[in-house]
Amino acid sequence: MINIPKGTKDILPKDSYKWHKVYDVARKLARKYNLKEIMTPTFEHTELFIRGVGEGSDIVSKEMYTFKDRSDRSITLKPEGTAGVARAVIENSLYADALPLKMYYITPCFRYERPQAGRLREHHQFGVEIYGANTAVSDVEALSIAMDFYSNFGVTPTVLLNSLGCKNCRPAYIDALREYYKSHIGEMCEDCKRRYETNVLRILDCKVDICKEITKNAPVITDYLCDECKAKLDETLALLDKSGVKYKLSSRLVRGIDYYTNLVFEFVDEDVTLGQNALGAGGRYNNLVGELGGKDCPVIGFGIGIERLLGYLAQKNITIEDNEKVDIYVASMVDAANTLDLVRNLRERGYSVDYDILSRSLKSQFKYADKIGAKYVITYGEDELNSGLLSLKDMSSGKSTKCKIEELKI
Ligand SMILES: [Zn+2]
Ligand SMILES: [Zn+2]
Repeated sequence: MINIPKGTKDILPKDSYKWHKVYDVARKLARKYNLKEIMTPTFEHTELFIRGVGEGSDIVSKEMYTFKDRSDRSITLKPEGTAGVARAVIENSLYADALPLKMYYITPCFRYERPQAGRLREHHQFGVEIYGANTAVSDVEALSIAMDFYSNFGVTPTVLLNSLGCKNCRPAYIDALREYYKSHIGEMCEDCKRRYETNVLRILDCKVDICKEITKNAPVITDYLCDECKAKLDETLALLDKSGVKYKLSSRLVRGIDYYTNLVFEFVDEDVTLGQNALGAGGRYNNLVGELGGKDCPVIGFGIGIERLLGYLAQKNITIEDNEKVDIYVASMVDAANTLDLVRNLRERGYSVDYDILSRSLKSQFKYADKIGAKYVITYGEDELNSGLLSLKDMSSGKSTKCKIEELKI
């Protein structure tokens, strides 16, 4: 037998309605907030992620699915959704059209992760990207979309927020961090030793105890923000207060991707043990488009892991209603031609209908109807065929009625 590759998951027929619910919510939300869908390829040139996500990130340094294609090009399965969108925006000069450009995507992402709980090598993300706005109100718009998405599933995660500063103020902070960690780096984990050289900011969210302990006294970014970044953060927070979005400032929040500038955020539930995982995350990446060779264009966006959301809902005992049960099962004792006539007629009336295609007994047909959760069963025998009256059973109440097909109201 051939097994599924490690870190991947089948979405089985019994669970697919949950995914459809996620897609429905995402698409309705998109209409509500005027976001247009963008679909980019599953794989891109490796260079895009090296330049976009950043060489110093864990994703690029150890998690990418990279391979040579048959023409010896280096190809990478997308590890996240943002870089591909940025490439498409630049390549198609989308920012030459009306700004802001508000988009969403639903995409698989591939990362070579340790398959511990909640970490898959192929997972899916719902993401939003808003191009062309650098205002506090665009920050709030992005966060509102995310919170609205979650509220559709009956949850309200906390937003952890931080500012990573800008080109002007971040370098001084990085210097201060280097200076601080210099005398401690010998005691820290191997990853942090590497991060010290490649991306010292990442040390701040190391989960290793000794590193966490050392980080407690590290300088905080908020002390280094320039006046502009500080004012911008204050404005965003004031607007969030007014719009009722709950948040917490978290000076250690850095996110693992190099493209972030200014605002970064994570969606977490502090009550539930979710390992080290955020439910979703995002922020601002005002330099990404420029770094990928496009014209400078501010962007804010976020990604929400769909598997993680579904796992989280299960942890909280929140069930998603299965709206995909068949409306009517026709349990037939008449010949196939007459059965098909009735089934076709019912389907033309807009019902979802199923019936026996295995020539089974009436009893087995009822059993099957029960198993698949049919809402109604129509028994179709000689009497019904001759009288034109349908025998209808409501499977939830157990009540039976007779009616003509024209009078059917379910
Ligand atoms: Zn700044
Ligand atoms: Zn560490």
